[in-house]
Amino acid sequence: MQLTEAQRIVYDTAKRFAAKEIKPHVRERRDDPQFPIDIMRKLADSGLLGGTFPEEYGGGGIDNVSYVLICEAIGAVSPSVFTAALTVQLSLVGTAIERFGTDDQKQTFLPELFAAKRVGAFALSEPNVGSDPAAGELTARKNGDHWTLNGSKFWISNGSLADWIVVFAQTEPGKRHKGMATFLVDGDSAGLERQPIPDKLGLNASDTAALFFDNVEVPSDRLIGDVGAGFEIAQTSLESGRTSTAACAVGIIQACLDACITYAQQREQWGKPIAAHQLIQEMVAEMATDCEAARLLTIEAARARDEGGPATKNVVMAKHFATEAAVRAARNAISLHGGVGYLGEYPVEGLLRDAIGLSLYEGTTQIQKLILGRELLGVSAF
Ligand SMILES: Cc1cc2nc3c(=O)[nH]c(=O)nc-3n(C[C@H](O)[C@H](O)[C@H](O)COP(=O)(O)OP(=O)(O)OC[C@H]3O[C@@H](n4cnc5c(N)ncnc54)[C@H](O)[C@@H]3O)c2cc1C
Repeated sequence: MQLTEAQRIVYDTAKRFAAKEIKPHVRERRDDPQFPIDIMRKLADSGLLGGTFPEEYGGGGIDNVSYVLICEAIGAVSPSVFTAALTVQLSLVGTAIERFGTDDQKQTFLPELFAAKRVGAFALSEPNVGSDPAAGELTARKNGDHWTLNGSKFWISNGSLADWIVVFAQTEPGKRHKGMATFLVDGDSAGLERQPIPDKLGLNASDTAALFFDNVEVPSDRLIGDVGAGFEIAQTSLESGRTSTAACAVGIIQACLDACITYAQQREQWGKPIAAHQLIQEMVAEMATDCEAARLLTIEAARARDEGGPATKNVVMAKHFATEAAVRAARNAISLHGGVGYLGEYPVEGLLRDAIGLSLYEGTTQIQKLILGRELLGVSAF
C-alpha cells in the first residue's frame, strides 16, 4: 500500500492509540456502551477525532485516505468504538451538518462534536423502514416557528446517549424523497423517549436504541438543509459512513490474520505447528488476500472521494466486499483456532459477531450490490 509520509504518521499514531488506550480494556468493557464515549474524549485529545472536516470548525483537515487509516486501526481493536466514535459521530452526523448546515449550525455544533464534548446520533431507520428510507413514517409538521415530530426510529447507534440526533422526517406523507427533511434534535427534548435495544449479536459496547417521538417540538433553526433535501443528506452522509465502515472491516480482517498467524505458529498437532499443515496455510493465504483486496478497494474509494469526483461505485464496492470478507475471515479465524476460537478469551469470536453487524448497517450487502448494479447498468432494480 503506497502512503505518503503524512498518511503513514496518522496510521501509526492511530495504531499506537488503539494498542494503548483501547485494547487493554476491550474485554472487560465489551458490553459497556459508555466505553466508546470515554475513548471518544481521548481520541479528541489525541487529535484523531477531527476527520476530514475543516480546521475552522475544529476538524482535523486530513484527507479521506488518512481518515480510513484511522478507521482501520481503531476498527481492528474495537468495531464498537469505531461505530460510535467514527462512523456515527464523524461520518454520519459530522457530514450531514458540515455539508448541508448553515454557517451558524456548523459553528455551533461541529466543534463540540469534534472535541467529543457532545455525542451525536443519526436516525434514519424505523421499525417499518430500513433499506427503503424514502418510505419513512416519522412525520414533521410546521407549527409557526417550530416543527412537531411524531413517530419512531429504530436501530439508532448512540441513540440512548446522544446529545444531538440527526433525525430524518417526512413532511408530506406519500411524497417519498421530495418530502424528506432533516432536523438536529436535542436528546433531552420533551416528548422524546429513548430505549436501549438489548441482546444484539455483536457490537455490544456500542449503544443501539429505539426512539419514540410524541409531539417533539424542534425549533425551525434546527432544520438542516431544505425541506426535500433529506434523502440527499442521508445518501451523502452514508457515502462517508460506508467508506469508513469498509475500513473498519479491513481492520477486522487484519486482526484475524494477525491472531491466526500467531496461533498457528504456537499450536502444535501431529507433532508440528499447525502452521505447517496445508489447509491452515490455505486459510491464512485466503485471509491475507482478502485483507489486501479489501484494503486496496477501501483506499481507492477514499482516493476517489479526495479527488472530488463520483465515488459511489468505489464506495459500495469497498463496503460490500470488505464487510463480507471480514465475516469470512472471522469465521475462518475461529476454525483455525479450533475450540478456543469459540471462547471470548480470544478475540476472533467477537470479531465475527461484530463483522456481521457491519455487513448490515449503512445499507446491507444486497443494497450495496443493487447500488453498484445501478451504477454499472444504468437502471435501478429497487
Ligand atoms: C448494529 C446496527 C446499528 C445500526 N445503526 C443505525 C443507525 O445508527 N442509524 C440508522 O438509521 N440505522 C441503523 N441501523 C439500521 C440499519 O441501517 C438497517 O438495519 C439496514 O439498513 C437494513 O434495514 P432493515 O433492518 O430494516 O432490513 P430490511 O430493509 O427489512 O431488509 C431485510 C432483507 O431484505 C433485503 N432487501 C431489502 N430490500 C431489498 C431489495 N430491493 N432487493 C433485494 N434485497 C432487499 C435486505 O438486504 C435484507 O437482507 C443499524 C443496524 C444495526 C444492525
